[in-house]
Amino acid sequence: MDCIKWYEIVPKGSYRVRRNCAGCGKKTWYQNTHCFRINANGTKLDVWLIYQCEVCGHTYNLTVWERVRASAIGSDYERYQSNDPILAEQYGNDRAFFERNRAEIESRREYDIKEVKEEQKIELFQEIIQKRNDLDNQKKLLCYYNPALLPVRVDKLLAELFGKSRAWIQKAGKSGDMVISEGFAGKLMVVLVSEHLLEYLFADKE
Ligand SMILES: [Zn+2]
Repeated sequence: MDCIKWYEIVPKGSYRVRRNCAGCGKKTWYQNTHCFRINANGTKLDVWLIYQCEVCGHTYNLTVWERVRASAIGSDYERYQSNDPILAEQYGNDRAFFERNRAEIESRREYDIKEVKEEQKIELFQEIIQKRNDLDNQKKLLCYYNPALLPVRVDKLLAELFGKSRAWIQKAGKSGDMVISEGFAGKLMVVLVSEHLLEYLFADKE
Protein backbone atom coordinates (compact mmCIF):
# COMPACT_ATOMS: atom_id res chain seq x y z
CA MET A 1 0.00 0.00 0.00
CA ASP A 2 3.03 2.28 0.04
CA CYS A 3 2.49 3.18 -3.59
CA ILE A 4 -0.98 4.47 -2.94
CA LYS A 5 -1.38 8.19 -2.54
CA TRP A 6 -4.34 9.46 -0.56
CA TYR A 7 -6.09 12.80 -0.64
CA GLU A 8 -9.16 14.23 0.92
CA ILE A 9 -11.27 16.87 -0.75
CA VAL A 10 -12.28 19.32 1.94
CA PRO A 11 -14.87 21.98 1.10
CA LYS A 12 -14.21 25.54 2.18
CA GLY A 13 -17.17 26.45 4.37
CA SER A 14 -20.79 25.39 3.79
CA TYR A 15 -22.95 25.34 0.69
CA ARG A 16 -24.60 28.63 -0.01
CA VAL A 17 -28.30 28.69 -0.89
CA ARG A 18 -29.79 30.70 -3.75
CA ARG A 19 -33.29 31.99 -3.11
CA ASN A 20 -35.70 34.86 -3.55
CA CYS A 21 -35.02 37.26 -0.71
CA ALA A 22 -38.05 39.17 0.60
CA GLY A 23 -35.72 41.84 2.01
CA CYS A 24 -33.82 42.47 -1.23
CA GLY A 25 -36.73 41.79 -3.59
CA LYS A 26 -34.58 39.57 -5.81
CA LYS A 27 -32.58 36.34 -5.82
CA THR A 28 -29.57 36.46 -3.52
CA TRP A 29 -27.14 34.09 -1.82
CA TYR A 30 -27.80 32.89 1.70
CA GLN A 31 -25.07 31.54 3.95
CA ASN A 32 -24.88 29.28 6.98
CA THR A 33 -25.04 31.20 10.29
CA HIS A 34 -24.09 28.00 12.19
CA CYS A 35 -27.02 28.68 14.53
CA PHE A 36 -29.83 26.25 15.22
CA ARG A 37 -33.32 27.10 16.37
CA ILE A 38 -35.35 24.71 18.49
CA ASN A 39 -39.08 25.02 18.98
CA ALA A 40 -41.04 22.88 21.41
CA ASN A 41 -44.64 22.17 20.49
CA GLY A 42 -46.23 20.04 23.19
CA THR A 43 -44.16 16.87 23.33
CA LYS A 44 -42.84 17.40 19.80
CA LEU A 45 -39.80 19.36 18.68
CA ASP A 46 -38.81 21.23 15.55
CA VAL A 47 -35.17 21.99 14.82
CA TRP A 48 -33.93 24.32 12.08
CA LEU A 49 -30.57 25.44 10.81
CA ILE A 50 -30.61 29.18 10.13
CA TYR A 51 -29.30 30.63 6.89
CA GLN A 52 -28.98 34.35 6.22
CA CYS A 53 -29.01 36.62 3.14
CA GLU A 54 -25.49 37.86 2.44
CA VAL A 55 -26.81 41.29 1.48
CA CYS A 56 -29.55 42.25 3.96
CA GLY A 57 -29.35 39.61 6.71
CA HIS A 58 -32.87 38.21 6.10
CA THR A 59 -33.04 34.74 7.59
CA TYR A 60 -34.22 31.43 6.19
CA ASN A 61 -34.77 28.31 8.28
CA LEU A 62 -33.86 24.93 6.89
CA THR A 63 -35.67 22.03 8.54
CA VAL A 64 -33.43 19.61 10.44
CA TRP A 65 -36.21 17.87 12.40
CA GLU A 66 -39.93 18.32 12.11
CA ARG A 67 -42.43 17.36 14.82
CA VAL A 68 -40.32 14.67 16.45
CA ARG A 69 -40.17 13.44 20.02
CA ALA A 70 -37.07 14.63 21.92
CA SER A 71 -36.09 10.98 22.44
CA ALA A 72 -35.72 10.59 18.65
CA ILE A 73 -33.08 13.32 18.57
CA GLY A 74 -31.07 11.78 21.41
CA SER A 75 -27.65 13.10 22.32
CA ASP A 76 -27.55 15.60 19.44
CA TYR A 77 -30.07 17.79 21.32
CA GLU A 78 -27.29 19.39 23.38
CA ARG A 79 -25.34 20.10 20.21
CA TYR A 80 -28.29 21.90 18.62
CA GLN A 81 -28.81 23.86 21.81
CA SER A 82 -25.17 25.00 22.00
CA ASN A 83 -24.98 25.76 18.24
CA ASP A 84 -22.20 23.21 17.77
CA PRO A 85 -20.19 24.63 14.84
CA ILE A 86 -19.02 21.18 13.69
CA LEU A 87 -22.59 19.88 13.50
CA ALA A 88 -23.75 23.04 11.71
CA GLU A 89 -20.94 22.60 9.18
CA GLN A 90 -21.91 18.93 8.68
CA TYR A 91 -25.44 19.96 7.70
CA GLY A 92 -24.02 22.78 5.58
CA ASN A 93 -22.15 20.20 3.51
CA ASP A 94 -24.88 17.57 3.29
CA ARG A 95 -26.44 17.67 -0.18
CA ALA A 96 -29.30 15.38 0.90
CA PHE A 97 -30.21 17.90 3.62
CA PHE A 98 -30.67 20.66 1.02
CA GLU A 99 -32.59 18.31 -1.28
CA ARG A 100 -35.01 17.48 1.54
CA ASN A 101 -35.56 21.22 2.01
CA ARG A 102 -35.88 21.76 -1.76
CA ALA A 103 -33.20 24.43 -1.45
CA GLU A 104 -31.19 25.47 -4.47
CA ILE A 105 -27.46 25.25 -3.71
CA GLU A 106 -24.42 26.45 -5.62
CA SER A 107 -23.09 23.97 -8.17
CA ARG A 108 -19.43 24.90 -7.79
CA ARG A 109 -17.56 24.89 -4.52
CA GLU A 110 -14.12 25.94 -3.48
CA TYR A 111 -12.15 23.20 -1.81
CA ASP A 112 -8.77 22.32 -0.37
CA ILE A 113 -6.95 19.09 -1.05
CA LYS A 114 -5.50 17.59 2.11
CA GLU A 115 -3.62 14.42 2.99
CA VAL A 116 -5.87 11.73 4.43
CA LYS A 117 -5.17 10.94 8.08
CA GLU A 118 -3.17 7.78 8.67
CA GLU A 119 -5.86 6.00 10.68
CA GLN A 120 -8.48 6.56 7.96
CA LYS A 121 -6.41 4.92 5.24
CA ILE A 122 -6.94 1.27 6.21
CA GLU A 123 -10.68 1.76 6.59
CA LEU A 124 -10.97 3.50 3.25
CA PHE A 125 -8.87 0.90 1.52
CA GLN A 126 -11.18 -1.85 2.81
CA GLU A 127 -14.12 0.07 1.39
CA ILE A 128 -12.46 0.25 -2.00
CA ILE A 129 -11.60 -3.46 -2.02
CA GLN A 130 -15.16 -4.40 -1.12
CA LYS A 131 -16.46 -2.47 -4.09
CA ARG A 132 -13.83 -3.47 -6.58
CA ASN A 133 -11.92 -6.65 -5.78
CA ASP A 134 -9.99 -6.35 -9.04
CA LEU A 135 -8.10 -3.44 -7.49
CA ASP A 136 -6.67 -5.27 -4.51
CA ASN A 137 -3.26 -5.94 -6.02
CA GLN A 138 -3.01 -2.63 -7.80
CA LYS A 139 -0.15 -0.61 -6.42
CA LYS A 140 -0.58 2.39 -8.63
CA LEU A 141 -3.50 4.22 -7.21
CA LEU A 142 -4.39 7.76 -6.38
CA CYS A 143 -7.29 7.72 -3.98
CA TYR A 144 -9.51 10.68 -3.34
CA TYR A 145 -11.83 10.69 -0.36
CA ASN A 146 -14.72 13.04 -0.98
CA PRO A 147 -17.04 12.81 2.04
CA ALA A 148 -18.96 15.97 1.14
CA LEU A 149 -19.64 14.59 -2.39
CA LEU A 150 -18.34 17.71 -4.08
CA PRO A 151 -18.83 17.69 -7.83
CA VAL A 152 -15.17 17.77 -8.87
CA ARG A 153 -13.54 16.70 -12.10
CA VAL A 154 -10.66 14.28 -11.98
CA ASP A 155 -8.61 16.10 -14.60
CA LYS A 156 -9.04 19.39 -12.73
CA LEU A 157 -8.01 17.78 -9.45
CA LEU A 158 -4.91 16.23 -10.95
CA ALA A 159 -3.98 19.44 -12.72
CA GLU A 160 -4.19 21.37 -9.45
CA LEU A 161 -2.41 18.73 -7.47
CA PHE A 162 0.53 18.40 -9.81
CA GLY A 163 0.70 21.92 -11.17
CA LYS A 164 -0.06 20.79 -14.73
CA SER A 165 -2.57 22.07 -17.26
CA ARG A 166 -5.84 20.21 -17.76
CA ALA A 167 -4.85 19.63 -21.37
CA TRP A 168 -1.65 17.91 -20.23
CA ILE A 169 -3.57 15.65 -17.85
CA GLN A 170 -6.19 14.80 -20.48
CA LYS A 171 -3.47 13.94 -23.00
CA ALA A 172 -1.73 11.70 -20.48
CA GLY A 173 -5.07 10.01 -19.80
CA LYS A 174 -5.75 9.35 -23.44
CA SER A 175 -2.29 7.99 -24.11
CA GLY A 176 -2.99 5.11 -21.75
CA ASP A 177 -0.77 6.29 -18.94
CA MET A 178 -3.78 6.99 -16.80
CA VAL A 179 -7.10 5.22 -16.52
CA ILE A 180 -9.80 6.98 -14.60
CA SER A 181 -11.82 4.28 -12.96
CA GLU A 182 -15.58 4.46 -13.03
CA GLY A 183 -17.96 3.87 -10.17
CA PHE A 184 -16.21 6.07 -7.70
CA ALA A 185 -17.87 9.33 -8.50
CA GLY A 186 -19.17 9.58 -4.95
CA LYS A 187 -17.41 9.46 -1.64
CA LEU A 188 -14.39 7.54 -2.84
CA MET A 189 -12.63 8.03 -6.12
CA VAL A 190 -9.74 5.98 -7.38
CA VAL A 191 -7.48 6.93 -10.23
CA LEU A 192 -5.33 4.21 -11.73
CA VAL A 193 -2.15 5.45 -13.28
CA SER A 194 0.84 3.75 -14.83
CA GLU A 195 4.01 3.39 -12.79
CA HIS A 196 5.78 5.67 -15.24
CA LEU A 197 3.28 8.50 -14.94
CA LEU A 198 2.94 8.20 -11.18
CA GLU A 199 6.71 8.31 -10.69
CA TYR A 200 6.98 11.20 -13.08
CA LEU A 201 4.21 13.19 -11.43
CA PHE A 202 5.55 12.74 -7.94
CA ALA A 203 9.17 13.26 -8.89
CA ASP A 204 8.09 16.44 -10.58
CA LYS A 205 6.17 17.64 -7.58
CA GLU A 206 8.51 16.74 -4.75
ZN1 LIG B 1 -31.61 40.00 1.21
